[in-house]
Amino acid sequence: MLEITKENIEKAIEKARATKPKVKVLEFRRYAVTNKTTGANYEVTFTKIGGKKFADCTCPATKICYHIGASIGAHIVLAEQMHTATA
Ligand SMILES: [Zn+2]
Repeated sequence: MLEITKENIEKAIEKARATKPKVKVLEFRRYAVTNKTTGANYEVTFTKIGGKKFADCTCPATKICYHIGASIGAHIVLAEQMHTATA
């Protein structure tokens, strides 16, 4: 499990913008990310523990990767919608 920081997620989002992978919502906090060029498909999961945010990806990377960067945009939108719905 990797902790998301402002620095590492910014880099991951930047890389995701350049790569433009396809993101599919599997369920809240679970996303499938597909590289359109290679067809590689990975699963990203987000977790929140004690105010800290963590992410997991099934790809071989050992840091916050661009799959996580690509998913977090969709995740933030969904999280806001859920928050609004329960408010
Ligand atoms: Zn990844």
